[in-house]
Amino acid sequence: MTATAPREGELWSRCAGCASLLYRKRLRRNLDVCPECGEHARLAAPERLRQLVDPESFTPLPDRAAEVDPIDFVDVLSYPHRLSAARAGTGLAEAVVCGTATIGRHPCALAVMDFRFLGGSLGAAVGELITRAAERALEEAVPLVLVTASGGARMQEGALSLMQMATVSQAIAALREAGLLTVSVLTDPTYGGVAASFATNTDVVLAESGARMGFAGPRVIRQVTGRELPEGFQTAAFLLRHGQVDMVVPRHALRGRLVALLAAARAGRRPGCRPAVPRQEPAPAARPAAVADPPVVDAAPADAWETVRLARHPGRPTTLDYLDTTFDGFVELHGDRLGGDCPAVVGGLARLDGRYLMVIGHQKGHTTGELVARNFGMASPAGHRKALRLMRLAARLGLPVVTLVDTPGADPGVSAEEQGQAAAIAENILSLSMLPTPVVAVITGEGGSGGALALAVADRVLMLQHAVYSVISPEGCAAILWPDRGAAPQAARALRLTAPDLCRLGVVDDLVPEPVPAAHHDPEAAARALREAVLAHLLPLLDVPPATLVRRRRQRFRRFGAARAGARAGAR
Ligand SMILES: [Zn+2]
Repeated sequence: MTATAPREGELWSRCAGCASLLYRKRLRRNLDVCPECGEHARLAAPERLRQLVDPESFTPLPDRAAEVDPIDFVDVLSYPHRLSAARAGTGLAEAVVCGTATIGRHPCALAVMDFRFLGGSLGAAVGELITRAAERALEEAVPLVLVTASGGARMQEGALSLMQMATVSQAIAALREAGLLTVSVLTDPTYGGVAASFATNTDVVLAESGARMGFAGPRVIRQVTGRELPEGFQTAAFLLRHGQVDMVVPRHALRGRLVALLAAARAGRRPGCRPAVPRQEPAPAARPAAVADPPVVDAAPADAWETVRLARHPGRPTTLDYLDTTFDGFVELHGDRLGGDCPAVVGGLARLDGRYLMVIGHQKGHTTGELVARNFGMASPAGHRKALRLMRLAARLGLPVVTLVDTPGADPGVSAEEQGQAAAIAENILSLSMLPTPVVAVITGEGGSGGALALAVADRVLMLQHAVYSVISPEGCAAILWPDRGAAPQAARALRLTAPDLCRLGVVDDLVPEPVPAAHHDPEAAARALREAVLAHLLPLLDVPPATLVRRRRQRFRRFGAARAGARAGAR
């Protein structure tokens, strides 16, 4: 395990790597790296900044963390109570510190996460602050440096925390379009939603020595696979060996590496070295239009846990069922062109009401045999890369994309991690935010976390009446926060994962009614309802110019953070 940085006032601290008793001042002089064994202790964000940026050069962004509790989440403690404790314990307003600075006299914008604050979890305020740091980088035409340390998305904010993966990713997409360098520095630990978005979809990914990074945490993988994990699994050296990071850098060399990268990027931007960067569209206003009126939901409110059970029902129509009923002339396309064809993702050309489009979806199955063959709809990195290939093909052909989302989550296995699950999801999320063709996503069954979002950064997000969409499974949430897996029904209610809840929160644009009592009782009627809903939402998008489409899609995902900041910023 990793040592924690010593507290002020303590003269001595014990290294968690080799148990040596170390004089604290000496340890700090050595950047909190044990001089005996090289163990890198975790750093608080202010100390990290002190080590990386030029003295006196850091200016925090003026934006403040908003007071957020968007879904009134309560487990054994209320979310505001946990937030207050984190603030008191760290002296920080949130789990990230953002600002501008120079590093080796090269200007940049920075966001540095702090694991001490609720495990560095990504919520609406954190996503908003990092997005503003990225927007500042774009305004000032300087590189963006992200230092990550996070357990993942913040469960206490439900699907709104999941949306932050898209919000920050699209801000990074804008920097990519402008030819501005983005660098992430992975520090220990970086997992979940942060790993599967801005930690890995930057131009250059550095891993600090001793950092571990992955989509799924070791505990989850052990639980799911029932296997012991290979030696050194998810460590910086493992990531380098599997092609997932550009370099592993000891803490002493980190600043020097950043200086070299920033210098190269600056040289490349001098006149004559590269084509002029086209004028960017201004960043969206800090306080965008309020979330549109939620659609009228006339469905009787169902218990959230009961809805989870319906969403998982083995009789529920699958993507291939809908391709057979809702769509016509499906021509399946296989493969990621990199070495795999994931059976949990199906996609290809199809027609809807005579119009050609690309349909991509998760495939589960009705029988145990089918479910096993399709890995229960849990996509591997090859599945995400196949989906990405098909989306890009659709864009080249000028065809709209319809995605059908039905997955408990992305594959949390050992080989998925080896093949870059986090980066594969991250690249899909970012690429969808740039895709110049209409995208309509429908959550048809289970919308599980980052694996669902990898197909759901869309112009319109629809949801079947008895589908669920959540940042974490109720069982997973219950195990961590209650902590008791038996509390899954309570967790399901606390997470606000049903279609009516998500329509109210603006995460979902429209609810697709199901036949009574649920889709599997009358698959033909469910197919007709899906067809009508997709057509109603897709047709108005077909004439929108691509640049407008992309701008509106980004505004759609930008509002989740901004709305919180705008609505409640004055509350503190
Ligand atoms: Zn040591």
